[in-house]
Amino acid sequence: MSHNPIRPWRSIERRKSRKIRVGSVEVGGDAPIAVQTMTNTPTEDAAATIAQIERCAEAGADIVRVSCPTVESTAAMPEICRHSPVPIVADIHFHYKRGIEAADAGAACLRINPGNIGSPDRVKEVVNAARANGCSIRIGVNGGSLERHLLEKYGEPCPDAMVESALDHARILDDLGFHDYKISVKASDMFLTVAAYQQLAEVTDAPLHLGITEAGGLRTGTVKSSIGMGNLLWMGIGDTIRVSLSADPVEEVKVGFDMLKSLGVRTRGVNIIACPSCARQGFDVIKTVETLEDRLAHISEPISLSIIGCVVNGPGEAAMTDLGFTGGGKESGKMYISGRPDHNVSNADMVEHIVELVEKKAERLKAQREEGETVAAE
Ligand code: SF4
Repeated sequence: MSHNPIRPWRSIERRKSRKIRVGSVEVGGDAPIAVQTMTNTPTEDAAATIAQIERCAEAGADIVRVSCPTVESTAAMPEICRHSPVPIVADIHFHYKRGIEAADAGAACLRINPGNIGSPDRVKEVVNAARANGCSIRIGVNGGSLERHLLEKYGEPCPDAMVESALDHARILDDLGFHDYKISVKASDMFLTVAAYQQLAEVTDAPLHLGITEAGGLRTGTVKSSIGMGNLLWMGIGDTIRVSLSADPVEEVKVGFDMLKSLGVRTRGVNIIACPSCARQGFDVIKTVETLEDRLAHISEPISLSIIGCVVNGPGEAAMTDLGFTGGGKESGKMYISGRPDHNVSNADMVEHIVELVEKKAERLKAQREEGETVAAE
């Protein structure tokens, strides 16, 4: 991933994992790091669940997970999977029958821990259903629900216990000749999570799904997840991520993408570089950035935009972005295009003008991308 020959300090060397599929999305290997979230609507309410999945997909979610705790919830899965614009992961706990039903219903992946679903026959039935439906599996170890024998062996949830649990579950699948699985070892403690993933990354080539579980509300959970998952991603560990927030799932997707964008490992939408503002600002930077974030949220093509209050840092930042605005003129500022000063815009018109420029650039990039895809497909 992201080897940068010109700026080597920006390079991240990604751990080599094997590649699996979650429906149409590749996970692991050289595939882009996928962003996931999870619905919080009652799954039985297919219409509400599909509406939430659509909002998450619009925000950029590559994969969405849906809980399947009851037979009524798996009964809604065929409709949900049929209408979802992205692959669906069915979250199963203990009830092996829900796993079989979800696989038959079109789920692209089952989140299930084979060691928790009972007899070897039941495990085999679930794995057969997954195999028959082209469904992958996520082994999801959680620090809060480790097996009793591991807690007795290790005394408390610790990285060794979490890795041992993950490998025990993985062995069951390997013994059945099923290798299309990814693993997560989440805990609400950031240090424990990071250490567990580091250890796990050394002993398996399975793709890893990253997350800090129960991280907290929008602000605190974002900070905690960014430190924990950000460190792992920086080390090259992680093939798919879910930021767990006590907030709208759409926010989880946005935070996930912002994390990947900050690390330069994925680009999506407008990346705004903005100064914090001070007495030198030539326009209201904070309000302008807030408005632009809102007005440009629909853009999915990768575009960098600098919005800087004055000439102290404006020209320098503009030189490194696709579009830039630097304040400091008389009720006006300078617009930069592809790093070069281009024309003046009044403060009153700047928002509309910038939105127009970004939208035009996005259209051009989209046309180029589609042309490239057509050529590649020929
Ligand atoms: S770029 Fe200018 S306005 Fe913005 S914080 Fe720096 S000195 Fe202040």
